[in-house]
Amino acid sequence: MELWEQWLSARWSYLVAGQEIDATWQVPHPSTAGFTRTDLAEGHGQLVDWELAVTDGSRIHVHEFADGRLVVHRDAINPSRGPLEAMMHWFSESALGKAVFVTGSVALIGVAVALVGGGGKRKNGAKR
Ligand SMILES: [Zn+2]
Repeated sequence: MELWEQWLSARWSYLVAGQEIDATWQVPHPSTAGFTRTDLAEGHGQLVDWELAVTDGSRIHVHEFADGRLVVHRDAINPSRGPLEAMMHWFSESALGKAVFVTGSVALIGVAVALVGGGGKRKNGAKR
């Protein structure tokens, strides 16, 4: 765990900024360092996912690939904390969640425009 702590603290600002960092051969295998296996992960071609909860509510997430590569990133919201967190994680961080969110925003703008337009019509109606 000590090596991981050093590795993570040296790269923490990059991880917080959302970067993915290759940790292959730099740290011991996650299974020996307190990480737990998880299925709460978007598929990026990885074989296994490892997670480590962080006290700020985030998690360190390691993708282990078939060739042994370990790629690390930080999830600002740890989806393992509960169903609400899992949903927020999915919306804020997965590619599909982002697409849904963008589509939702466009739909909301459409509704707002319709409401403004509708309000104008109602005002005209009241003048009659
Ligand atoms: Zn992740």
